[in-house]
Amino acid sequence: MQKKFEEYAKLLVEVGVNIQKGQNLVISCPVDCAWFARLCAKAAYEAGCREVIMGWGDDQLNREKYLHAADDVFDFVPEWRIRLLTDYAKEGAAFLHIGGSDPEILKGVDQDRLVRSSRSSGRDLKDYRQMQMSNAFPWAIGAIPVPSWAKKVFPDCSEEEAMEKLWDAILTSVRVTGDGKAVQRWQEHLDTLQIRIDKLNALRLESLHYTNSLGTDLTIRLPEDHLWGGGDGVSKAGVHFIANMPTEEIFTAPLKNGIDGVVYASMPLVLKGEVVDKFHFVIKEGKIVEVHAQVGEEKLKAETTLDEGASYFGEVALVPYDSPIRNQNLLFYETLFDENAACHLAFGEAYAECIKGGEEMSKEELKAHGLNDSITHVDFMVGTADLSITGRTHDGKEVPIFVNGNFAL
Ligand code: ZN
Ligand code: ZN
Repeated sequence: MQKKFEEYAKLLVEVGVNIQKGQNLVISCPVDCAWFARLCAKAAYEAGCREVIMGWGDDQLNREKYLHAADDVFDFVPEWRIRLLTDYAKEGAAFLHIGGSDPEILKGVDQDRLVRSSRSSGRDLKDYRQMQMSNAFPWAIGAIPVPSWAKKVFPDCSEEEAMEKLWDAILTSVRVTGDGKAVQRWQEHLDTLQIRIDKLNALRLESLHYTNSLGTDLTIRLPEDHLWGGGDGVSKAGVHFIANMPTEEIFTAPLKNGIDGVVYASMPLVLKGEVVDKFHFVIKEGKIVEVHAQVGEEKLKAETTLDEGASYFGEVALVPYDSPIRNQNLLFYETLFDENAACHLAFGEAYAECIKGGEEMSKEELKAHGLNDSITHVDFMVGTADLSITGRTHDGKEVPIFVNGNFAL
């Protein structure tokens, strides 16, 4: 296993954020996973990293904070924290986030505190977030198991067994086998994604129509100059990086006011430390006008009303049902993995790279091109084995994009 762990750490550092000689690396990681952060730091220094700056997180302490901290704590982000993130972002440092959390860690905490905390982060960390959404600096997200998470995924196993199984599932998802060839496999994977991206971009679609037996019947119009992307991104300094590992999706942005119909989630969603399940949205002219959930409805309603843009959409992503992560037949209870097992949408902020020249545009220009702006971005899964997506071109031609859950292109 040690070989595999080292290969995974190397992959996140050398391919994920693609650390360059003399560049700083900011790592955020739960304290329980410190040993893995050390492997990443070691890999970074070996690749010529200038300095590794650590931001430790702790699930339990975070819960304690929401339960017991003074009330005004949630209304602003301290200056030092804003400076830490924005200063390193401005100099083009790389940001690596290592996730690993109990999916239900914040269950039962005061919803109002969570909402206020999201709003103040959205407001005070706006510059940092905008730089991230327009790829100003390289960033990557990976995850490693912690016992509470592993037990949620494998409730019938002992803790030890569950941890082993979750490690297996994660390493399979990120194509790490311990043979040292993960980087090569990723290159081949990126090439495969690029072929589909090129095909979709060549179609210049006007809209997409989704239907399946869950009851989804949704039309999504796309901006005139939308671009499909996926796999890797390019930072302002011209360095390729992979923001999500794993990644199986090809994505673009919808036209903010161009979505109409009903969409049903096909999998549960972990939303800020709580599970939301069996939900659907009714959407009119881009806006979510009805939210229904059998589990966690209040949580979902709070998130879709965080700000004006939270009730509009920011991402349309295609993932074949027959994909390496889906084929493991697991519910990961972690969006990083679950969103790469199914077609998904996101409400909230759109990525600037989804418009031609978008990364150089101001917020106002992006809005004028039909892109949504919000302090949140929440992916939720809609893909099923019987999902059909039909594209429509500007001259009215219909093109099957997905048939029975898989690419028809
Ligand atoms: Zn996505
Ligand atoms: Zn997303």
